[in-house]
Amino acid sequence: MSKPIVAIVGRPNVGKSTLFNQIGKKRVSIVDDMPGVTRDRIYLDAEWLNHEFTMIDTGGIEFDESNHILKSMRQQAQLAMDEADVILFLVDGRTGLTTADEEVARMLRSTKKPVVLGVNKIDSPQREMDVYEFYNLGLGDPIPLSAS
Ligand code: GDP
Ligand code: MG
Repeated sequence: MSKPIVAIVGRPNVGKSTLFNQIGKKRVSIVDDMPGVTRDRIYLDAEWLNHEFTMIDTGGIEFDESNHILKSMRQQAQLAMDEADVILFLVDGRTGLTTADEEVARMLRSTKKPVVLGVNKIDSPQREMDVYEFYNLGLGDPIPLSAS
C-alpha cells in the first residue's frame, strides 16, 4: 500500500527545505520536467510520531529564473492539489503575510484536500504573537513552528 503524500508549498526562503530535511529520512525519487509543470520536485520518505508518509518538496519550481514568484507559487500549489493527500502551506512568521501568500491561500481554499498552515521561524515563545495575522488567510489555525 502506498503511503500518504504530504506536499510542502510556500514562498522561497520560508524554510521548506529545512523542514523537509528535518523530517525526511531518505530520498525516494527526483522527478523533473513534467509537462505543464516543468520544474522538479523531490520525494522523501518520512516518519513523524509513528505515522509514515511521503513528502514532496515542490520548491524546485523556484529555481527557474524566468519565473516570477507568483507564477511559481501557483504551479507549486497546483502540483500539490493534484498529487498530495495533505498540503502543508508554509509561511514565514518573520517576514509576515505577503501578497503571494494571499494568492496561494486563495487557490488552496478551493481544494477539498486538508490544508495545514504552518508558520515557520517562530523560534521562541516571544515570537508566537507573529502567527495571528495569518488567520487572515482563511485556512484555519496557523501552527507555529521552528524548522531549524
Ligand atoms: P526554502 O526556500 O523555503 O526551501 O527555505 P530554506 O529551507 O532554504 O530556508 C531559507 C532560510 O531560512 C535559510 O537561511 C534557513 O536557515 C532559514 N530558516 C529555516 N528555518 C528556520 C527557522 O525555523 N528559524 C529561522 N530563524 N530561520 C530558519
Ligand atoms: Mg528549498
